[in-house]
Amino acid sequence: MDTKQTDTQKEAAERFQNIVSHAKEYGFVFQSSEIYDGLQAVYDYGQNGAALQNKLQQAWWLAMTRMHENIVGIDSAIFMHPKVWEASGHVEGFNDPMIDNKDSQKRYRADMLLEERAAHYEAQGESEKAKALLEKMHELLKAEDLEAVRNLIIEENIICPLSKTANWTDVRQFNLMFSTQIGSVADASDKIYLRPETAQGIFVNYLNVQKTGRMKIPFGIAQVGKAFRNEVVARQFIVRMREFTQMEMQFFIKPGTQTEWFAYWKEQRLNWHKAIGNDTDNLRFHVHEKLAHYADAAEDIEFHYPIGWKELEGIHSRTDFDLGRHEEFSKKKIRYHDPQAKENFIPYVIETSIGLDRLFLAVLSQAYREEETQDDKGKVQKRTYLALHPALAPTQVAIFPLVKKEPLVEKAKEICDLLKYDLDIFYEESASIGKRYARQDVLGTPFCITVDFDGLDDNTVTLRHRDSTEQERVPIAELKSKLIAACAMENILRKL
Ligand code: ATP
Repeated sequence: MDTKQTDTQKEAAERFQNIVSHAKEYGFVFQSSEIYDGLQAVYDYGQNGAALQNKLQQAWWLAMTRMHENIVGIDSAIFMHPKVWEASGHVEGFNDPMIDNKDSQKRYRADMLLEERAAHYEAQGESEKAKALLEKMHELLKAEDLEAVRNLIIEENIICPLSKTANWTDVRQFNLMFSTQIGSVADASDKIYLRPETAQGIFVNYLNVQKTGRMKIPFGIAQVGKAFRNEVVARQFIVRMREFTQMEMQFFIKPGTQTEWFAYWKEQRLNWHKAIGNDTDNLRFHVHEKLAHYADAAEDIEFHYPIGWKELEGIHSRTDFDLGRHEEFSKKKIRYHDPQAKENFIPYVIETSIGLDRLFLAVLSQAYREEETQDDKGKVQKRTYLALHPALAPTQVAIFPLVKKEPLVEKAKEICDLLKYDLDIFYEESASIGKRYARQDVLGTPFCITVDFDGLDDNTVTLRHRDSTEQERVPIAELKSKLIAACAMENILRKL
């Protein structure tokens, strides 16, 4: 095996571990129910994580709704009529092929074991072998030949990483939807599901929104909300969770125009990722080899996480499948009346669907920096910081009196009052200034203000910039406008 490759892989795994630890140590992401040893593949966002998540969500929401006059936002319920999931195909077809190792009793997704093997071939430069394996796998899954999928796993000598054996069960289909009972008496007819995607809440509200909003095609409906999937494999931090947040937008169009709108949304979404600070080198499109039954085109935006390329967002041309099925199952006409062409039709749909949690990890991985610097005495020191876009940073400005003495404290608190209505601020008066800067660096705070004695005479403060660590004197009178401009969401939206 190529040792250079292994070293790079080891470094990437280490970097990923550092990011996961960083997320926990600085209040971004915690394991759910940690004091009870956690709940697998369920995570909580801490004080800084929730703030970053809210801002990412806002950057998406504003890009969709404010920047497109023909897109509106809704918030539909998690619980929906059970027929919704029959119509959407989820009751019948939302399955993953799973396989258990009899010795370790661990469950795996059969397709993922094979994908991991293909990625291993790829990493060793055996691209053809990787491609052939994936093609074979897709062919077998399409034919629903689960026995052959098991045989392929055995032929490939894939073993369980825990028991190190190939003592595999049969491959079985496993439905990913969580179900529960509604009402006080449990009986089969009361079975409802926790939604596995937010999209169906949009489809069932298509007529409501179109009519009440007098929307004209083409138009879109956006929504952010929780989705639930009983994922078989769950070992990749917040990449694969059982409860996660989706940000989805369904764009309703005239049949026949899907190719041009698909291209439009691909470009829009890629631009958005660049605008929030994701590096072009870490983004790529992946064309789906196997299209879902409802789609006539589908591509993913993949992100290069330290653990490899993974799907971050899906862009799908869903034809009239969903609305058509809801028309069939609900027996209600779900059409659009085009007054000019004087015709009625079921709109086609282009969907953009992104997981907020995967986005969060992409942004965190992108922003995480470890640098070596020298202090005044020439001693090498490690500096860790998050180079987050100022509009997204949990805290935007930290304000410090140089020492905990009057009138510095009073002046610093006056500055807090000046800024707190427009910016997310943080005040701290203990520890050395260097330490206070370092504490903000790890949270990604782009600006720190220090109030010192010199500034009391000429009404100035020191403004310290996170990425360059440069410091400048700024008149207090200019602070507010300067910082609001630097931290504005407008900076992201103007790039779209
Ligand atoms: P994958 O193939 O990785 O399971 P998917 O194709 O099933 O993903 P979609 O159904 O297209 O995903 O969902 C849209 C988006 O929702 C994905 O691009 C991803 O960002 C997010 N997502 C899906 N499943 C999960 C999950 N279990 N945890 C976190 N985010 C998820």
